[in-house]
Amino acid sequence: MLERARERDVADPLAHYRDRFDLPEGVIYLDGNSLGALPKATPARLEQVVREEWGRDLIRSWNTADWIGLPQRVGGKIAPLVGAQPHEVIVADSVSVNLFKLISAALAMQKNAGRKVILSEPGNFPTDLYMIQGLEKQGLATQRLADREAIAGALDEDVALLLLTHVHYKTGARYDMSALTKAAHDAGALVLWDLSHTGGAMPVALNECGADFAVGCGYKYLNGGPGAPAYAFVAQRHHADLQQPLSGWMGHARPFEFQDDYAPAPGVDRLLCGTAPILSVAALEVGVDLAAEIGVERLWAKSQALGEFLRECLAETDVDLDLVSPDDPDRRGSQLSFRHPDAYALCQALIARGVIGDFRAPDILRLGFAPAYLRFADMAETARHLAEVLASGEWKEPRFQERAAVT
Ligand SMILES: *Cc1c(COP(=O)(O)O)cnc(C)c1O
Repeated sequence: MLERARERDVADPLAHYRDRFDLPEGVIYLDGNSLGALPKATPARLEQVVREEWGRDLIRSWNTADWIGLPQRVGGKIAPLVGAQPHEVIVADSVSVNLFKLISAALAMQKNAGRKVILSEPGNFPTDLYMIQGLEKQGLATQRLADREAIAGALDEDVALLLLTHVHYKTGARYDMSALTKAAHDAGALVLWDLSHTGGAMPVALNECGADFAVGCGYKYLNGGPGAPAYAFVAQRHHADLQQPLSGWMGHARPFEFQDDYAPAPGVDRLLCGTAPILSVAALEVGVDLAAEIGVERLWAKSQALGEFLRECLAETDVDLDLVSPDDPDRRGSQLSFRHPDAYALCQALIARGVIGDFRAPDILRLGFAPAYLRFADMAETARHLAEVLASGEWKEPRFQERAAVT
């Protein structure tokens, strides 16, 4: 197994990109889909922003270092990774807050049509549903949930917006963006895609699919660092009608005129609310530049190869785990999820061996493949560790049962 893996690593055109990340010795990191690894260039860039731009140049840096244009600049670099035009994407806030802004914007666009149902799926990432529920409490929206297979059938004349996560965080199941966007449009609904488990791991064609809105995460496959700001996409055809309720001063057309009345900035600039967290956006830019340099097509090809290779390695052991991710790599994201009644303890036992995956309640062991820094040898080693942990029963040790605040 390991020998074959090493041959694959030698032949891997992306192998050298591992050196661009600061990874600890002895760790196999299968959780880049939850917190991406640290690019080696990030500390130096942050040092420069802190010491030179902030420390030395002080407030002048808003102009001289173009801090004021940073959300647009980094958004513009994310755009080609998700099939958008540069002026359709901006970096701002968290995914949750951007969901609030864009769900609200969709509701405003659908108001005259009398539509206020937001359609999503049960088991979507919680924050996506919670944001709908928050608007529902305000009397502005009505939540409707339909299982994956029933989504298209649940689109009717009341649906204002279809809100789906392109790659499911738990199972890794991937929606057909093009088909569902078309089905929603045929029913008169708008579509908002959550790309948190997509952006930076695989190509996606927002404009080609006709998507209306999208949001995505900066701290997962884009390696922007803990709590990195998120991004938001609005198709150009909606820019003129775009209204969002968090009408903060940085989304004003002329913030430094300090007028009493709000006038929205053009296009996605009006999605800004308060002042951008410059240090965080600067760190995110390093991760985005690296993803762009490697190229999402190549990242995706390697991700699929890694996932399939891990399955081959597992098949050679006597590990018999229940795969909940789709069997077909073209129907899933950059992860493999397995169901096991003691998935939590199993995950902890693997972490003790240096194999960091994660657990998703109640019974999922999730292994994510960040293709920029993982090796085929890591897959072979993961299969070996998993087989040993299961065969020895070491996961039954009490120390692996205790749950920390973040699981
Ligand atoms: C990680 C993730 C988020 C993150 O939301 P934040 O508000 O940025 O913390 C949102 N949606 C999905 C599907 C995610 O996987």
